[in-house]
Amino acid sequence: MLNLVLFGPPGSGKGTQAARLVQKYNLEHVSTGNLLRAEKSAGTPLGLEAKKFMDAGELVPDSVVIGMINNKLAEKASSVNGFIFDGFPRTIPQAEALDALLAERDMSITQMLALEVSEEELIRRLLDRGKTSGRADDTNKKTICNRISVYTRETAVVASYYKEQGKACHLSGEGSIESITQALMSEIDQLA
Ligand code: AMP
Repeated sequence: MLNLVLFGPPGSGKGTQAARLVQKYNLEHVSTGNLLRAEKSAGTPLGLEAKKFMDAGELVPDSVVIGMINNKLAEKASSVNGFIFDGFPRTIPQAEALDALLAERDMSITQMLALEVSEEELIRRLLDRGKTSGRADDTNKKTICNRISVYTRETAVVASYYKEQGKACHLSGEGSIESITQALMSEIDQLA
């Protein structure tokens, strides 16, 4: 099994790259942002609860996202080659919960791949995406800046968690989409 954490700030290209990697390696793409947006548009109680955090660019409580990941693993773990986690884990308790949930199934994280992009470039990309994504959190510059500071304050530390386990790899997330995909693939191919 190949279980990857695609890591990086909002706008670093995790979703774009994950979509390419799942095809090549036949993995299941698990994006907590996508799962939460689906709950939100279906108007479920979970979606309604998450909405206020998402619209403000704050993190949804750990228990909510960990519960969603648990459901996803229960549904898919026996039938896939592995997972790409995108936008999860975003806190140390989430990273610890992920390890525990995987261990229950005799699985573990193979590698964390972190995409590094300058703050100016992140803001530019997110504002640009906001023109077409229909995401409230991509259109307001204040919310975008808050998402980046939440990342710096609460999420960046998760990279050290994987570094301590000898599972961290940092790559530039700037350049053409294809060149970044190639760099990710060359790292992944060395893991096999
Ligand atoms: P994303 O699509 O990954 O940028 O996520 C959009 C929003 O969903 C974030 O700004 C958070 O409000 C929420 N979210 C997504 N993933 C998580 C997570 N792992 N932990 C907490 N909140 C999350």
